[in-house]
Amino acid sequence: MGSHCESSVKIPPIKFTKLFINGNFVDSISGKTFDTIDPRTGEVITKVSLGDREDVDLAVKAARHAFDHGPWPRMSGFERGRMMMKLADLIEENVDEIAALDAVNGGKLFTLCKAIDIPVAARTLRYYAGAADKIHGTVLKMSKGLQGYTLREPIGVVGSIIPWNFPTTMFFMKAAPALAAGCTLVVKPAEQTPLSALYYAHLSKLAGIPDGVLNVVNGFGETAGAAISAHMDIDKVTFTGSTEVGRKIMAAAAASNLKPVSLELGGKSPLLIFDDADIDQAADIAFRGMFYNKGEICVASSRVYVQEGIYEKLVKKLVEKAKATVVGDPFDPQVNQGPQTDKKQFEKILSYIEHGKREGATLLTGGKHVGQKGYYIEPTIFTDVNEDMIITKEEIFGPVMSLMKFKTMEEAIKRANNTTYGLASGIITKNLNVANTVSRSIRAGVVWINCYTAFDVDCPYGGYKISGFGRDFGLEALNQYLQIKSVVTPIHDSPWH
Ligand code: NAD
Repeated sequence: MGSHCESSVKIPPIKFTKLFINGNFVDSISGKTFDTIDPRTGEVITKVSLGDREDVDLAVKAARHAFDHGPWPRMSGFERGRMMMKLADLIEENVDEIAALDAVNGGKLFTLCKAIDIPVAARTLRYYAGAADKIHGTVLKMSKGLQGYTLREPIGVVGSIIPWNFPTTMFFMKAAPALAAGCTLVVKPAEQTPLSALYYAHLSKLAGIPDGVLNVVNGFGETAGAAISAHMDIDKVTFTGSTEVGRKIMAAAAASNLKPVSLELGGKSPLLIFDDADIDQAADIAFRGMFYNKGEICVASSRVYVQEGIYEKLVKKLVEKAKATVVGDPFDPQVNQGPQTDKKQFEKILSYIEHGKREGATLLTGGKHVGQKGYYIEPTIFTDVNEDMIITKEEIFGPVMSLMKFKTMEEAIKRANNTTYGLASGIITKNLNVANTVSRSIRAGVVWINCYTAFDVDCPYGGYKISGFGRDFGLEALNQYLQIKSVVTPIHDSPWH
């Protein structure tokens, strides 16, 4: 396991640190700010305006006005789509600067932000931009004497509360379908990673998106986030984050205006590797499935079940990969794994590792923090684990894999489903019958066969069980930002009955 700490990339000056309300960057009403931290060092990058309930109120007023009286929901889908396409172009033109913001703020690999996260944001905008002029209802086949059809109308003002692990992907996974539908938004980025969201607010203005349509309020969950979920004038909340906060958001929505919510909550996802798998390919898939984005990914293949015939060989390969991983500065192109996003996550992950050791699991590799400063943790693999251990039950959200051995397909299915979560899963096998049976038996929102984390904007994605409900991506997501209205009228004197 190497560590590397040199980087030639210069971090650009931070241009946007205020709240973005009604098309303008403004200070918070209280005038307060909070520090945003560089997880490579634990030092302050800059101070960002701290939004609270009153700032959320202002942003909601702007979004409400833009929805009730502004041009956005009234213009043609084609026109909305054009501005969204323009925003996608602007994002691509500024890819280096935005990638640097997500890398310095979230500890994400600069090269991957540039190659994946930011191009995916542009692609997401273009996908929904293309759908914006294809939103229509259906003609109803009604009983004699009635004529009916449905209208699909934008749901209204959307509150979007997003996490820190994919600041760019999450921003557009929610905002792009909402904008295409004709909604207006108040986005609250995670307090750990506000910087790229503010940059997107700036670009939205350049793209011509009218004032009040896209508002960004930085702040903490218990204040700004809670104000969004309880707000009487927000028509829908979309959230990605922890199950614990998902419950609070749902309760606040129920206690206020019964706004619909969609919740994408964590996971503890199983990957089942069968004896007939190609061992090198399986090791690659399992390793990337778990350690991508330093394990801070809700679909991480954190429970890897390996059939007994290839178990020893596969374990060896995974340990080799962990040891070859270079942990260090996310701007350095030789580095494979950057720092965890913040001190809280860093300490939480290390405490789970200690728990695993105390519970009797065998630490095969990793387990320690790296370096004297910053939030770096070695890729860590435990074996001799079972589903009763805390490290196998709870979402660690860091670079920690649990490896388990199984004998039969039936046993693997049972153990894979032995979790309260149901976000994602994977199967590696050459046997089509096994792949078909297992994919239909696992209770999770996605099953990847001979691949993992194979996301696409056209592929709906979300959870079963306590991993939440509702879907991001795909046309399914667009529907979540639309209301269906039935319009019915009697027909008099029809010649056709
Ligand atoms: P979190 O759920 O607290 O934060 C996610 C977002 O919710 C942030 O924007 C936060 O400000 C907001 N929030 C927090 N409390 C709120 C409240 N009461 N009302 C409204 N909004 C609120 O996540 P966290 O504390 O940053 O991380 C804790 C754990 O959550 C992680 O270890 C991981 O297990 C899980 N997580 C999951 C995802 C995911 O992609 N599903 C992302 C981040 C974190």
